[in-house]
Amino acid sequence: VERLLDLENVQVHFPMREGLVKAVNGVSYHVNKGEVLGIVGESGSGKSITARAIMRLLPKRAVDAGGTIRFRPRDGEEIELSALSRNSRAIRQVRGNHIGMIFQEPMTALSPVHTIGTQIMRTIQLHKGLSRSAARERAIDLLAKVRLPRPAELVDAYPHQLSGGMRQRAMIALAISCDPSLLIADEPTTALDVTTEAQILDLLKQLQAELGMAIIFITHNFGVVADIADRVSVMYLGRILETASVDDIFYEPKHPYTQALLRSIPRLGVDQGRRLPTIPGMVPDPFSVPQGCEFHPRCSHARAGLCDVKAPPERRFGSQMSRCHIADQFVQEPVHV
Ligand code: SF4
Ligand code: MG
Repeated sequence: VERLLDLENVQVHFPMREGLVKAVNGVSYHVNKGEVLGIVGESGSGKSITARAIMRLLPKRAVDAGGTIRFRPRDGEEIELSALSRNSRAIRQVRGNHIGMIFQEPMTALSPVHTIGTQIMRTIQLHKGLSRSAARERAIDLLAKVRLPRPAELVDAYPHQLSGGMRQRAMIALAISCDPSLLIADEPTTALDVTTEAQILDLLKQLQAELGMAIIFITHNFGVVADIADRVSVMYLGRILETASVDDIFYEPKHPYTQALLRSIPRLGVDQGRRLPTIPGMVPDPFSVPQGCEFHPRCSHARAGLCDVKAPPERRFGSQMSRCHIADQFVQEPVHV
């Protein structure tokens, strides 16, 4: 397997009046060519900020506090993204040619005052140097590729003329217009109804297979990850607590936080109308992250004198990583069948 992206000990801080928030607190992960990495976590776990660090699109008040991010484009030299500034020519090349991004809200990416076609054509013309008519043809092809109906007409439509699901498809068309080797999808289906969500997930899987691109799929929904990811990383309070293949995550989770998240997924037909267990306690406020293991106040396995004192190291089991003192004690226990 070839590595496309490597994050090593990435740190992003937000200096606030109340104190320093370590929104991304030493995150390391990698993405192989053509694979789907799911990043799961509750809101505020740092998953979107990490994605923004990759794209060099951090909010203005964020401090890039260290770590390295390396990217190897399909045909080209390795690029150290962490060394690039937000508006550098090099990062704009990367955003236009190598890494696409889609969001929960399509209007984050689409302009309300230009037609879908104009927006796609502008991107293609800028980065691929195509003529106007060739770019228009390509825009229509892209709209067909994301399975929008009547692409030759929709190319002249404005975003507000489309339904939510169609806008999502148009945003995906724009994101893949330069044939990226990596697509970062930040909760792209969170605002959609269940049926449209399933259709968009299907579309992303088809495109991933067709175009051979890798995807970082960010979500708070573990059920969605089962559907699309090859490997999964679970984030909590700015750290990755567990990384494993999708099978290992679901059938042999080695971190109590992952286990708790899995118990709170509704099972079709079984849990309808039943109250699901939720993880006890609240996500601690980011100004007072607990000592030792940051999950210990909510962990049913926590050991006094250990978990509240000493930060757990990364424990490795083959390709599986768990940041828990007692990770080796979790033998196979299927959580869902
Ligand atoms: Fe729970 Fe301790 Fe493991 Fe943290 S290190 S997840 S508190 S058992
Ligand atoms: Mg987010």
